[in-house]
Amino acid sequence: MTIWTVEGHRLFADGCPVPFRASPNIGGKIAEHRLLLHHFTSGFYAGSIEWLCNPAAKASAHLVVGEGGEVTQLVPFDRAAWHAGKSAWGDITGSVNPVSIGIEIANLGDLDGSPGHYTFAGHAVPDDRVIMARHKAGGAARPWHTYPAAQIAAVIGISRALQAAYGIHELLGHEDVAPGRKVDPGPAWPMDMVRAAVMTPATAPVFIPPRPPEPVAEAPVPNVVETPKDVQRALVALGYGPLVIDGDIGPASEAAVRRFQLVAGLAVDGDPGPKTRAALARAMTRRT
Ligand SMILES: [Zn+2]
Repeated sequence: MTIWTVEGHRLFADGCPVPFRASPNIGGKIAEHRLLLHHFTSGFYAGSIEWLCNPAAKASAHLVVGEGGEVTQLVPFDRAAWHAGKSAWGDITGSVNPVSIGIEIANLGDLDGSPGHYTFAGHAVPDDRVIMARHKAGGAARPWHTYPAAQIAAVIGISRALQAAYGIHELLGHEDVAPGRKVDPGPAWPMDMVRAAVMTPATAPVFIPPRPPEPVAEAPVPNVVETPKDVQRALVALGYGPLVIDGDIGPASEAAVRRFQLVAGLAVDGDPGPKTRAALARAMTRRT
């Protein structure tokens, strides 16, 4: 098991500093480390590091953790990284970046397709690395890329070291500080178990085996969503109701369409056009 420590605002694994690649996307001094944020990269490890070191990204994180637990540090822990964007928590408004450490976990996030041919940006994702789950913000069950045990163990060990070094008050997901805008690290990340392991005092023994969330069975029957009434029925069935099923896309139906479009990653315009109807039909087919 790797021993993670923090010294001089750098992360060490078994006494050796982890690879450091300086990102130009960096803010001011962190006066107080109040929060630790977990994210998923929506991309692969090496490509995510490249991107977060590119000035055009206008984004960074303190650490990127790969699927095998390999780590690269991009920003020293005493400087703000640009990981959370517009975000808020408690009395922190605007952005939590000035008071937080951000860990990007290499993971493809939410996926497209259906069993046997899940994809991420055209890359095939094997079924045994996919879980069907609902996001806690609501919406239908959809496919998410799972996190390997080695990666979860590394993030826990690193997070415990950071908590011990900086007295971090709370461990949160990006989805917690930017609800409605962000869904990472998502339902495949076992946050309750991770939080319990990280926020336990360092002297207490921790042995909680990583466990992915319960899978959600899929409904096999394909659905068709054509008419405004079909749209309303689908929205209600997927938990965006209650709505009156009258075929009139008024303000309440339009608001439900917007919420669905947000969760489904579509353009949020409140108009149940062909793309939105197709996504509703897919979501209905997947739901239980
Ligand atoms: Zn994020």
